[in-house]
Amino acid sequence: SIVYLNGDFMPAEQAKISPMDRGFLFGDGIYEVIPSYNGRFVGFAPHIARLQDGLAQLSIDPALNLADWQAICKQLLADNAGDNLAVYIQVSRGTDSKRNHAFPANIKATVFAYAFAIAPEPVADKSKATTYNVVTGQDLRWQRCHIKSTSLLGNVLHYQQGYASGAQEILLFDSNGNLTEGAAVNVFVVKNGVIATPPLSNKLLPGITRLLLLTILRKHSSITIEERDISEQDVFAADEIWLTSSSKEIAPVLKVNEHTVGTGEVGDVWLAAQKLFSRHKYDE
Ligand code: PLP
Repeated sequence: SIVYLNGDFMPAEQAKISPMDRGFLFGDGIYEVIPSYNGRFVGFAPHIARLQDGLAQLSIDPALNLADWQAICKQLLADNAGDNLAVYIQVSRGTDSKRNHAFPANIKATVFAYAFAIAPEPVADKSKATTYNVVTGQDLRWQRCHIKSTSLLGNVLHYQQGYASGAQEILLFDSNGNLTEGAAVNVFVVKNGVIATPPLSNKLLPGITRLLLLTILRKHSSITIEERDISEQDVFAADEIWLTSSSKEIAPVLKVNEHTVGTGEVGDVWLAAQKLFSRHKYDE
């Protein structure tokens, strides 16, 4: 495959990064994953806006604007085979000869991007939905979960916790008992036709799929949407639970721990939401 590293496109085997890179030593960097289907990206501008925002919060400046990112990502689609490709972008603070915690002066950010094959785009069809079983757990990550940091150990450990329990994701709750998100997804619950999701804060990633879904539903439906605290009780009382992420879009959850969600089948509100998402996701 062809990858991008610091201004050049090259075969993946030729891409080399120093072990002194702060991305490797400290996890000092930001990443993005942007899905595309048949050459069209979903949510390209908001993905890049979140990347720029994260980099600004860490005072990392790769000196690339939206048009530059567009050129890099389009080139990766052109140079790599496949109709369904996501582009992974990682920007670290760069390479320094000393392992000092403080930000080194005058180092150049390391910019890496590559394309990888993803599943075909999810379809709004109950019988074709990929469904999930999840477990619950206490959110033990740091207090800057709004930053899409490459320091993913907290998320990796929570994901593994779910996986080791035979589930495919984990719903995390903060010390006040409020739902934050999953290890790699945002979470929505539906009760009596009303959709709710936790409000944005330092406790969760501002997911682009979450953003697109909220925007699309507000524009194209009259479904009531609440951004509010969600308790464990709300989760167990929900008629439907969904996980959202760039690769999953909107994925129904059928089991939480030993509890069956709603009727135990993919819900009607999911169908309506995924239909609208599929129709309008390239507009935003
Ligand atoms: N929350 C976490 C912790 C994630 O890692 C991700 C994405 O991988 C998401 C939420 C969903 O974000 P997005 O919809 O931008 O893919």
